[in-house]
Amino acid sequence: MNNLFNLTPRQKLTRARVLLNRSHPFFARLTMLMKFVEMPEIQTMGVDANGVCYYNPDFVDSLSDDELMGTLCHEVMHCALDHLARGEKKEPNIFNIAADLVINDMITANGLKLPKAGLIPHSHRYKLKLPDGNDLLIEDIDKRGAEGIYTQIKNAWKNQNGQGQGNGSGDSSQQGFDKHIYGKSSGQDKDVAGRDSDFWKNKIVEADMSSKMAGKSPLGMNRIVDSITNPKMSWKQLLQRYVRANLPFDYTWSRPNKKTYSSGIYLPNVEKQGIHIVFLIDTSGSMSEKELKEAFGEIMGIVKTIHGVTLHVIYHDTDVYEGSSLLNPTAQDIMKELKNCKGGGGTDFTTAYKYLEEKVKDADVFIHFTDGYDRFPKKFNKPIIICLQSSGKNIDTVKKEVHYGKVIKVEG
Ligand SMILES: [Zn+2]
Repeated sequence: MNNLFNLTPRQKLTRARVLLNRSHPFFARLTMLMKFVEMPEIQTMGVDANGVCYYNPDFVDSLSDDELMGTLCHEVMHCALDHLARGEKKEPNIFNIAADLVINDMITANGLKLPKAGLIPHSHRYKLKLPDGNDLLIEDIDKRGAEGIYTQIKNAWKNQNGQGQGNGSGDSSQQGFDKHIYGKSSGQDKDVAGRDSDFWKNKIVEADMSSKMAGKSPLGMNRIVDSITNPKMSWKQLLQRYVRANLPFDYTWSRPNKKTYSSGIYLPNVEKQGIHIVFLIDTSGSMSEKELKEAFGEIMGIVKTIHGVTLHVIYHDTDVYEGSSLLNPTAQDIMKELKNCKGGGGTDFTTAYKYLEEKVKDADVFIHFTDGYDRFPKKFNKPIIICLQSSGKNIDTVKKEVHYGKVIKVEG
């Protein structure tokens, strides 16, 4: 169907990811992490917690490009939302339905298509046929997690057969189109082994940041991103999470290698790239040296296991002053650098951010350490984490001012 160019199933998968990258960069970025394995024994498609996607070539061939794009998003969201570990000890038939409803609601809300056999909600509602033929109305799917929906279905199901078993025959068209391989994943595949829920959480935050920069944020994702970047986490954990989300090298699969990506083929880029973190330090106000050292310490904790990290320090008040570029710095190097800090005048964020955009190339992430007392520029097109000092401006006020990057308040 629709396979005008006689593409092989594998080529169709690649093509679907390239098309997704244009229309839905958030989902595309996540699907780039999947590894595809052809498996004629499987009826349609299935996925495990590591992001290994097993597919029947005839199934892939039977889908239109649009359906295949939606299907890939469906599979990777099972990983990204940690469904395969979360559903491990639950009734699989029921958890399958709950997980598929959550994902399909999100995918169709973003204008993607799915195969007809999918359980597809309309206006965030779905009428589920119970084994005795009665309907169960599941509502507000966009505001609920898979567990809540699972419990609702399980209770209704239980009232029907009195055993609480989800193995009733039900309606086979309500079993979705894919296979969920529950459990923490076998870890057999070296390329993708050991991916845990933290790995996928970081990938969601990363995909969210980059799609925001591209001006194509997905609908319905804020609630999930907010729950990941829960303000109950300490500022240190948040800083670590945001920095990790921007590191170009994730130990297994890195960003698509530009050369192979443009030819439509995605290969793991095994070459380790240097990591370039820029610390922009506001020296205008009463900067707390203790907090600054702690922030540096957190970054050091992340980067000390990776070879080739450059910490580039830049100071600003109304002017911008270059500090040192420290390759694989030690704590002593950082202490020494901070003694040389320059500035002490007024504040001008616009000048500083303009400098970053124009003069600092190849940074993976910027971290701005500041009290926040100035007007932030309206736009900034690079990944930035604004780290507000504990004595600084109110975090909610700053979040309203900046529509880019992430804001953290240091708790002294
Ligand atoms: Zn599914």
